[in-house]
Amino acid sequence: MLSATPLRPDAEGFFGPYGGQHLPPHLKAIMDEIGNAYLSIRDTSDYRDELADLYAHYVGRPSPIYLARRLTAHSGGARIWLKREDLNHTGAHKINHCLGEALLARHMGKTKVLAETGAGQHGVALATACALVGLPCEIHMGAIDIAKEHPNVTKMKILGAKVVSVERGTRTLKDAVDSAFDEYLRDPQNFFYAIGSVVGPHPFPMMVADFQSIVGREAREQFPKQAGKLPDVVAACVGGGSNAMGIFSGFLADPGVRLVGVEPSGVGRDVGKHAATLSYGKPGTLHGFHSYLLQEMAEGQPDPVYSIASGLDYPGVGPQHAYLKDSGRAEYYAVDDAGCLDAFMTLSRTEGIIPALESAHAVAWAMQNAAALGKDADILVNLSGRGDKDADFVADKLGL
Ligand SMILES: *Cc1c(COP(=O)(O)O)cnc(C)c1O
Repeated sequence: MLSATPLRPDAEGFFGPYGGQHLPPHLKAIMDEIGNAYLSIRDTSDYRDELADLYAHYVGRPSPIYLARRLTAHSGGARIWLKREDLNHTGAHKINHCLGEALLARHMGKTKVLAETGAGQHGVALATACALVGLPCEIHMGAIDIAKEHPNVTKMKILGAKVVSVERGTRTLKDAVDSAFDEYLRDPQNFFYAIGSVVGPHPFPMMVADFQSIVGREAREQFPKQAGKLPDVVAACVGGGSNAMGIFSGFLADPGVRLVGVEPSGVGRDVGKHAATLSYGKPGTLHGFHSYLLQEMAEGQPDPVYSIASGLDYPGVGPQHAYLKDSGRAEYYAVDDAGCLDAFMTLSRTEGIIPALESAHAVAWAMQNAAALGKDADILVNLSGRGDKDADFVADKLGL
């Protein structure tokens, strides 16, 4: 029987059958070292106080919860509330875990922090955290993405990160992962590979979920004060699953609160252009962990994925989400590009809040389900990031 509230994995990093460390022994040893270092400082007051201080005075936490009245009226049903992670320094939830990872890397005496980035969001958040703690940072990014996402590349450079242009393969995210990982393997003892979501081998899904749990803890405390009750539904977009895990964690122990993860169905499953892993995938192993995987084209091989929101573009998903899906504690649905764009524009024009295209998927689910849930219901949406980065793209796409 699966427990409904798996807050932490077992000692081997498993959430039921999912997670673990599917790695060669020498890398497993390094991951265990990171896990042990993390467990040894996680509950020390020095580490907790430093992180809490940065959350409060650097990130600007707690982020507010806001009742979107005009969006609610427009959607014609349940009240829609937003957890405003878009108001964090750097404009999204990613700074929450990048700070935790950078502090851990510094504690372990690492000499360089490495990561890949797709659209550059993880790269910018990590470069920010590394500038703050004074650690060298190296970001691998596909040459195609570098050309497309110029503002983020510029930001990373200003923040002092080395940006490596990846020229192999399709010159996009997947190749950037391979390239960054090759560099990491040159000296895993001294380098720290900062994973950007609740994915990868143990201990990363556990650590990143811990760092993001601040979102859920705040929301669990804030919401009843403002609404007089708990939300009926908590919704969040799911790429790797970190912002969703963050807000879900605050409500896992409240059986009356539905947890809804929203994946991108892109331009449709029938044409194979989506990234809805939990909706359409099945169990498989990728990047050192076992979870759901999109593998419709060839068993065991990740499918090419697509979403209008590049931050949701991943063929796997965090193992804790796989567990929450199988146990029935969380539900996962897909929203397509058109629904996402509609939510992007509607939230902008009813509330004056331009959401990230990633977050707009969760807003779209709330808009599409508000009427059926009814006027007495409350939906809390994690607004994972702001949409400045997407403004030009959307304006172009819609001919504004
Ligand atoms: C990266 C990103 C996501 C997707 O990552 P998760 O780990 O699924 O949260 C969602 N929203 C924004 C704004 C992002 O930058």
